[in-house]
This record gives sequence, C-alpha cells and structure tokens, in this order.
Amino acid sequence: MTKHNFFAGPAVLDRSVMDQAASAVGTFDDMGLSILEISHRSKQFVAVMEEAEALVRELLNLSDDYAVLFLTGGASSQFFMVPMNILASGDTAGYVDTGTWSTKAIKEAKLYGNIEVLASSKEDGFNHIPKPDVPDHLRYLHITSNNTIYGTQYKGFPNTSVPIVADMSSDIFNRPIDDISKFGVIYAGAQKNLGPAGTTLVIVRKDLLGKVDRQIPTMLNYETHIAKNSSFNTPPVFPIYVCMLSLRWLKANGGLKVMQAKNDAKAKVLYDEIDRNSLFAGVAATEDRSNMNVTFTINNADLEGKFLDFVTEHDIMGLKGHRSVGGFRASIYNALKTESVHHLVSLMKEFESMHA
Ligand SMILES: *Cc1c(COP(=O)(O)O)cnc(C)c1O
Repeated sequence: MTKHNFFAGPAVLDRSVMDQAASAVGTFDDMGLSILEISHRSKQFVAVMEEAEALVRELLNLSDDYAVLFLTGGASSQFFMVPMNILASGDTAGYVDTGTWSTKAIKEAKLYGNIEVLASSKEDGFNHIPKPDVPDHLRYLHITSNNTIYGTQYKGFPNTSVPIVADMSSDIFNRPIDDISKFGVIYAGAQKNLGPAGTTLVIVRKDLLGKVDRQIPTMLNYETHIAKNSSFNTPPVFPIYVCMLSLRWLKANGGLKVMQAKNDAKAKVLYDEIDRNSLFAGVAATEDRSNMNVTFTINNADLEGKFLDFVTEHDIMGLKGHRSVGGFRASIYNALKTESVHHLVSLMKEFESMHA
C-alpha cells in the first residue's frame, strides 16, 4: 500500500530517485562496487559532484560569480558560518525574525558582529512575514525564505541593494528565482526539498569572502571548500549522490517553472479546502501562505486527535503540526504527488460530513 508522505523533513522523494539510489547501493556505475564503498576521489564520484554542481547552476541560472558547495553540519551550521565568513566584527547585518529558524540564526550571528533585527512577527505567533525597510549600511540582509514550522513564505524577495542571505532549507528549487544577483548567500539543508539528510547546499557570491580579519578554522572557511570543490575532507558521498539524482529528476520534469506551477496548484487545492471546510482554519496570513508547508487547525480540540487517527488509517503520514504551533502541517514539497493532496482533501471532506 502506498503511503502519502507529508512529513516536514526528512521528507518525500520521488520513487524513481529512491529506486536509482537503491540500485547504486547494490552496484554503482560500472565499478562493480557499491556507492557506499567507493573513494570520494574516484573519477566516478568526482563526476557525481560535478554533475550535482552543474545542475544547481543550470536550474538557478548561476554565474561564475557564485560558488556551489555541498557541506555538512546542516543549515544550522550556516547560522554561524555565514557571519563568521562575511561579517567583520565592526560590521552590521540585518535579520528578519520570522520564526524559530530565524531566531536561531540571529543568536549565532550575534557572536560575530552587530545584528539589527529589522522586524519580527513573534508577537503574532509568526503568522506572517513582516516587510521592513532595509537600511543601506548593512553588510547583508538575512531572511528565511520559507518558515517550515509556521507555514509562511516570501512571495517576492526584498527590494534592496544589500546582498540577501537566505535560508532556503524548506523551499529551495520550489520555484525559479527571478533575480539571483540579489543574493549573497543561499543555503539549504538537503532534507526538505532536495534530497536526504546529510548534506547542505551552500551558494556563495565569492566577492563577499576574504574581507574579515578574524581567524576562521579551516573546515569552517568557505574558501577552503571552494578551492577543493567540496572535497577538502570526505564529503557525504551518498547524500550528495541522491541530491544529484533528485536534481536530474527536477530537470527532466521541466525545471523550476514547471515545478512552481505544480506546487502552486497543489497548494491551492489544499488551501481552498481549508477555507471552504467548516471544521478547519489556516494558520498563516493569506498573502504569506507557503506552497511548501501548509499549516491549519481544527475548530474543536476534541477532534484533533481523531482527525489525525482518521488520516493515518488512510495512509497519510506526517500530518501532525509542529509542537510549537499545534494543529496540522501538510508538507507538500516538490516530490509530493498531486494525488496525495487530493487524497488528503477528500479525507477532510469526509471528516466534515462525519463531524460538522
Ligand atoms: C529544517 C530547517 C533548518 C535546520 O536544518 P538542519 O539541516 O537540521 O540544521 C533550518 N532552517 C529551516 C528553514 C529549516 O526548515
């Protein structure tokens, strides 16, 4: 029986990607060895790394001004690697506080320079994206493009000449980025919308580097990894391979424009039902609703557990909301099929007819 995977991360991948990954665990390429037991310096793996990087460049239209890295330590390590590498101790960076992940990024950045929190939606339970003016003196502006826990997402990016640093962990590759040159750094833990857990995609504009005078440990210095094509030390070979497969899948399925149309259509089906159904209500402000993480509640606390049991009986996995928001969260990443959203919607209708 097929399950419908609505988990927030690690999350759904296309079946074809997992089948190819499984096959490579058996034997990879023409080597007669498993992908799990080959050298990261073998020409076969070097080709994987190169293809993964090339696909990222192609899908996002990146120029040579940017480096593409596959690192470890999760998006959480980028919370400190970004300021450590590009914020000199007397410099100021601006942060927009849109939830748990932004708050964590702010805490780490304060270790390295002056941090101005330009706006926060904390008072409103992070249910919307504040849009502050961005002063010109900032070294960079940090945003969280999609707030995985609260279900809010930037629909357009701030209009500023300050380089934007974006945590795109939960919406990387969900749509094309019109003006990539606005961005100084983009980072994303792979395990939401790209691949399995174990690697973090980091895209850095190279001219931002080399301008701080603090000592940076070798492993935490972007320049180390740029010079060695993400293979200064042993990279996470298997997660990078699966990310590459997933990027191939994205390209073969039409790229980011097509993916955006699918994602918007999937999200619309679900939000329309949340708005129509007398039992449910959306959490996020309408104009900031995420097309990746759809958060909603039920109007009768007694029914919350019942609805979760009901959908679980019908093969829906991972619908429980984050503990800090409660209710439900449907993570509908790139690889989640439209049929899965229709299945959830039909269960919401059925539950309404049982309980309204
Ligand atoms: C999950 C998540 C993180 C944390 O990612 P790790 O790779 O576990 O460190 C950071 N930011 C956002 C927006 C996330 O969704």
